[in-house]
Formats: sequence, C-alpha cells, structure tokens
Amino acid sequence: MRLADERRSLPPHVLLDFARQGLFGLQAPLGTGGLALATVDLVRVMQQLAAIDLTLATLVGVHNGLGLRPLMRHAPLALRARWLPLLAGGRQLAAFAMSEPQAGSNPRAIGTRALRVDGGWRVSGEKHLIGLASWAGVLTVFARAFDPAGRALGTVALLVPEDAPGLLQGPEALTMGMRAIVQNAVRLESVFVPDAQVLGAPGSGMEVAKDAMGFARLGIGALCVGAMKRCAQLMARYAARREVAGGRLLDNPATRLHLHELDCAIAAGEALVAALAAQVDEGGALPLDACSAAKCVLSELLWESADRLVQMLGGRGYLRTTWRRNCCAMPVRCAFSRGRAKSCMPTLARWRGCPATASRIPSAAASARPRLPGNWRGCLLQPPGSGRTDAMASSRPGPCWPRRRPLQSAHWVRQRLDALRRRIESETAQAGNCPAAEAVLARVAGYAASIGDGDAVSPGEAQGIDPMLARERTPIVADSQYEAMLAPFANCVTKQDRGAEPGAEDVAAPSPLSFEPAGHEQASRQVAANAAGQVSAASLERVLGCILKWFREGGAGDAVMPAVDADTSFGDLGIDSLASVPLALELEAACGVAVSAELLYDYPTARALAQYVDGLRDGPGALVEESVGVAPG
Ligand SMILES: Cc1cc2nc3c(=O)[nH]c(=O)nc-3n(C[C@H](O)[C@H](O)[C@H](O)COP(=O)(O)OP(=O)(O)OC[C@H]3O[C@@H](n4cnc5c(N)ncnc54)[C@H](O)[C@@H]3O)c2cc1C
Repeated sequence: MRLADERRSLPPHVLLDFARQGLFGLQAPLGTGGLALATVDLVRVMQQLAAIDLTLATLVGVHNGLGLRPLMRHAPLALRARWLPLLAGGRQLAAFAMSEPQAGSNPRAIGTRALRVDGGWRVSGEKHLIGLASWAGVLTVFARAFDPAGRALGTVALLVPEDAPGLLQGPEALTMGMRAIVQNAVRLESVFVPDAQVLGAPGSGMEVAKDAMGFARLGIGALCVGAMKRCAQLMARYAARREVAGGRLLDNPATRLHLHELDCAIAAGEALVAALAAQVDEGGALPLDACSAAKCVLSELLWESADRLVQMLGGRGYLRTTWRRNCCAMPVRCAFSRGRAKSCMPTLARWRGCPATASRIPSAAASARPRLPGNWRGCLLQPPGSGRTDAMASSRPGPCWPRRRPLQSAHWVRQRLDALRRRIESETAQAGNCPAAEAVLARVAGYAASIGDGDAVSPGEAQGIDPMLARERTPIVADSQYEAMLAPFANCVTKQDRGAEPGAEDVAAPSPLSFEPAGHEQASRQVAANAAGQVSAASLERVLGCILKWFREGGAGDAVMPAVDADTSFGDLGIDSLASVPLALELEAACGVAVSAELLYDYPTARALAQYVDGLRDGPGALVEESVGVAPG
C-alpha cells in the first residue's frame, strides 16, 4: 500500500478483487450481489481490513456505511432495484455529501438549498471533504428544503447520480493520511432531483443522516480495534526480538506494561463494538450515543497505540518505509518526547537553566528507581553529582531559557515534570503487576485468529520488509500453543486485585507474574561457561574493586548497593551503556590493558572480564608492564 499512498490512488486490481469478494455489498441482499452479512460479521470484516490497511478499510466503510446504507434503508423500492446491484456488486461506488466549508460538526448549519419545484427539487450549494465523491456513481446529498414561497421544510436527503446536469466535482483535498482514496469538494448548480430520488420523507433527511453516521461510527470503532491489534502485533514482534542494554526489550517492565495496557484496551474495544453490533442485529434502534462513544474513545486509543508503536520501534518508527510496509497507513504524530523516562531526556534538556524544575528531575527518577527490577535501574536518570544531570541542575540560565521568561512558563514546566514523575511512579508500580512477558506475547499471538499474522506486501515495491518486523516463519508463539501458554495465567490474581500496595519488596517477591530478565539468563550461561576456566585472584580483585568504586562514587545513583560477586551480571548491577564508558576507563587504568565499553557486553561478569584481562596482560593488549590495582572495600 505504500505505492498506492504515494500515488494517491488505489491499484485497480484491488477494487476489482474487492468487488469479486462482495466487499462492496457487505449487508446488501444476496440477490443483488451482496453478502447479506449480520452486523456482528460486518465489524469483523472491518477489523480485518483495518489490520491490513486503514485506507482499504475506510474505502469499504464509507461505501457500505455512508453510501449504501441510506439507500438500503430509506429509498423507494424502484430506486433500490435500480442502484443496489450496481453498488453492491462494486460496479459503482457511493458517497455521502453532508459537510460544507461552513458546516462540519454542526450539520444543521448546512447552506445547500433544495427548492421545491414541479416533480422534484432544485439543489444548489457546495460540499467539501466528501469521501470517494469523484469516484462515486451516486451521492446522497443533504440540503435544507424550502417550499416555493421560501418557507423552510427541514432537511431533505437526495440521491444524485454523478452525471446529473449541474453536479460538478471540485478539487481533491490533499490529506495527510489515507491518501490512496479521494476526498474532494462537490458543487451543485441548480441540480434537478426528481421526487423518486428522495430518501426518507422530505423534511426528515436528518434522520437518514443520523442513522448512516451512527452506523459509520460503529464501523470506525471496529476499524480502530483491528488497527490496534496490528500495532500490538508489531510491538510484540519487535520487542520479542530486540536486545537492548539490560536484556530483551520485551522484558523491560514499561514495554510489558504498554503491551498489556494495549491488550486490555483492545479487549474492551472489541467487547464494546461486538455488543453494539449484536444490538443492531437484534433489531433495536441504533444506539447513537454509544456508537459516537465507540468512535471517539477507540480512535483516541488507536492514536495512543500508534504513538506507543512509534516509540517502541525506536529509529525504525521514524521511517516511512516501516509505516507503509509494515503498519496500517495512518498519519503519524511526532511521539518522540513521550515514553520512558530516558526518552524524555532531550525534552528535559531543553529546559536546562530552570533550577526549580531541574531539581525535581532527579527526585522523580529516584522515587521510581527502587521499584524497578535490577538491570533496568540504570535506565533512569541519575541524581545530582553523578554528572549526568549536573548540566540541567546548573543555576545559570541556559541559552534556550530566556532570562525574562514569564513566571507562568516556569510554573508550566514544573507541572509537566510533576506529571512526568507521577506517570513514572504509576507505571513502575503497575509494571510489577502486569502479566509475564510470555503471557503478553501469547495474548497478542491470539489476534491472528481475527486479523491474521501477515505482512503487507505487494509486487513492484523496492523496499524490503524489516526483518525485525516481519512475520516469522516460525511464529513467536505458535497458534496452537498460545491457549496452553495462557492457561497458567487464567486464574492469576494480581497484587492490586488483592488490594495490596505495590512496593519495592512486592516487585522482588517471586510470583508467576514476576520479572525475570532474559539478559540475566544469557549472562548466566556465559558465566557458567567461563567458570570452568582459570582466573587470577589479582585480576578478579582489580575488576571487583573498580565496580565497587563505581558504586561508592554514585554511579548507580542512590540505589542500594547489591551484593557484588564474581558471577553477578553487569546488567543486574545496573551497569548500562552510559555507565560502561567511565567504568571501562577505570578498568583500563586499574588492569593495565585496553578495555573498551563494548567489552562489558562480551564479558558480562567480573569473572569473565578478569579472565579476559588475564589473557591480555602478557599479550599485545597490555598497556603497561605493571599497574596499581584498586583495593575493594
Ligand atoms: C477522513 C475524513 C473523511 C470525511 N468524509 C466525509 C464524508 O464522506 N462526507 C462528509 O459529508 N464529510 C466528511 N468529512 C468531513 C467531516 O464530517 C468533518 O470534518 C467533521 O464533521 C468536522 O467538521 P469540521 O472539519 O468543519 O470541523 P469543525 O466543525 O470546524 O470543528 C473544529 C473543532 O471544533 C470542535 N468542536 C466542534 N463543535 C464543538 C462544540 N460544540 N463544542 C466544542 N468544540 C467543538 C471539533 O471537535 C473540532 O476539534 C470527512 C472528514 C475527514 C477528516
């Protein structure tokens, strides 16, 4: 779909194929070429389409919900007989023309006029942002009706064929997203519409509009659920494959929490959409308020999911190829100032020179840090004195902070940081209570049942799919396994369910939901392999001495110093990529051999590193003949 988006046009074979599959007549009677689907099935189709591409889902949604539905429910028999086979079979598209430059959210302000004339209506006015208008064979146009004396009669809904004299297609809107389908202005210059083409009763056109818009909103809710599932799939694929400092990205508590929250939002959204669809099928009145709520809440949640996805994919989230090839096409908001505390650093750094706010950053980080499991501690901001936040804590106003900035601005910054602190605290507390990584993965794997587990591929596009985001030949979790994997968690009661206040000791307590970083396991294997080899007491002492010195000098902030022994992994000690640079310099000076920061990943324990040092001390890596060790203590 990337090329379709670039070209602002759908490939003809897609439209032809959709028509062949009956997607343009989802609820139209079978005899007309439609599929006669129940609403509960229609929303499932919308979900699946949106998971593939939002543009395709919108095309089908606009045509079926806004285009076909008014005709099916409000047109006289003869009109239905004429148009339904054309529209349901996909030989013509249908559009819905309500919005005008001066009437959007408030449709009662429309200025298009339908003047009563002999045998019908003369319609004049201007519409804009009409989806599919210039591709459509027929448009439902809404106008304010007047009798020949100029008295208002209410609103009238009129079916206008695209070749009606006086109907002019206006310029196409250059939209930011869903660019492969057209949205354009329409002008009506004294268009004659016969009485036989009135939908519903003249004067009650707003009832026709409300029904179609309500139904379309339900469809948008379903569409959002499908797209959110796709976001979750991609987040899970990436997080399960990506190794970052401290271990697998999926094992980061914030990652698990975000995926878990998304999974909960999807479950709630899916339940709401399914319940509304069932209500429609039972013949009740369309619950307009609930449909509006589904649209508003779920589209907002979809935005959040897209933000989270962009955030989680790191640099890949910024690439258009990632979005067009792997994700549902949607306009992407810049989300880089959001996310985990570390990602907020650039934003916070811009506020350098505002001492009142800078002083809160370390306390925010400090209050969250003790609750984080071992090897993620290093990811949080460090307190004053560690060097990392000194620049921000400086009392000298920085170049980005004008001296005579109004006090309200500083107050605003303080509020934002308070909010950030509260979010970090709340997220870390919740992270201790959300399901284990494999359980979250298993849930996401379950989406394959409703939206498949595919890749967006089409012939002729030069860009390959990023392997980090592609579907796996061997899925992360096989379909058949995910039920079994979920079973142990089925009756899990979280600490919050039991009403307990989560705290540092809660996080550390072993439970089926507790956090076990994958990096730790990897490090343990490495240590076990090295344990068989010999290591000199002198080298081991030097390495351990450097680590203890790093702790004493505040390298890990105010985190409680853990028991440091030869086989504890550096990740578990909170030594992240930033910390490894000064530590490597320290080790180099103490051991007399070249030690780069990267080596701390290859030799992830004191014992492994000491063995490495032993191997180098007499070889070409030796920097000096003898060096002074740093005594532990
Ligand atoms: C992708 C897309 C497809 C569309 N397809 C169609 C289509 O097929 N047919 C069609 O007729 N129209 C279509 N539209 C137009 C759409 O119906 C209007 O954009 C929508 O009704 C909002 O109207 P507006 O753009 O004039 O915004 P405005 O009405 O100007 O609203 C501007 C802002 O004010 C807020 N606002 C509005 N009223 C209030 C209030 N009372 N109190 C507080 N805040 C308020 C709104 O939430 C919004 O944030 C489409 C629009 C989009 C984006």
